[in-house]
Amino acid sequence: MIIFKTISSLQNHLKLLSGQHAKIGFVPTMGALHEGHLSLLEFSKKENDVSVCSIFINPSQFNNQSDLIKYPVTTEQDIFLLEKNSTDIVFMPSLEEMNTLKFHSKGDFNLDGMDNILEGLHRPGHFKGVCEVVEKLLKIVQPTTLYLGEKDFQQCMVLKKLVRLLQLNVCVKTCPISRAASGLALSSRNLRLSEKGKVQAATIHKILSNIKAHLTINNWLQLKESSITELLNNGFEHVDYLEMCDMESLEILNNAPENNEVIILIAAFIENIRLIDNIKTSANILTN
Ligand code: AMP
Repeated sequence: MIIFKTISSLQNHLKLLSGQHAKIGFVPTMGALHEGHLSLLEFSKKENDVSVCSIFINPSQFNNQSDLIKYPVTTEQDIFLLEKNSTDIVFMPSLEEMNTLKFHSKGDFNLDGMDNILEGLHRPGHFKGVCEVVEKLLKIVQPTTLYLGEKDFQQCMVLKKLVRLLQLNVCVKTCPISRAASGLALSSRNLRLSEKGKVQAATIHKILSNIKAHLTINNWLQLKESSITELLNNGFEHVDYLEMCDMESLEILNNAPENNEVIILIAAFIENIRLIDNIKTSANILTN
């Protein structure tokens, strides 16, 4: 495993590899790595000659300063895990060097309103920051394939759009959510939860699974209300949103369509920590 801390040293190395027509898989992360990140790297390793994992905490995607300050940093453990999992290349650029890179767009892309709903609505400027840093990383690494986790479903959609807008020659692959045995979606932010908080946080997956089991074409609003009540009764302080959306456009729906799959997305706070999750489903057909 080789660790690069400057853009030029990484690019010199990657130039040699692309000269050999190597397929390059890329997994961007903010560190505090867990099995979810490693699962993306597994997909990358299977499908490419070389896998690059970046670790970079991008301040411009944090709309809340205290969230940024409290974001877990576990660099030694991250390097240990990446080495153990036979990652080829780790890219850990400095904030200073990343800030010197300037592109005309500065993250200001026309995302067709995708940045004003759900995560975008509750975290103003978040997707602008994400687009700004991912544009930089993609132009530095120039991967064959970019691997993203569906835990951040809206981010996957935004970044697919970004790749199209920038006309980048990169394939985007989205990978399933890795969960703890309790069903809790793995997240770097889980490191900040108490033991009790971790148990209670699994209520998110419980309510999502319950929605999947019981959703019909006309009971969404009742399911939504009872799910929010269950979360608030199980240690959650606040629910930013719990919405049912069209899988393609993310349009918020009040009734589940008869035939199409939908996605249920949630963001909620427990122990002052904001967790997100989602589940794909379709309306169950009632039988007597
Ligand atoms: P982050 O370090 O949180 O920015 O995440 C880096 C990448 O890992 C993103 O593409 C995330 O969607 C993905 N990721 C984070 N948690 C999970 C998970 N539990 N399962 C699958 N992918 C994940």
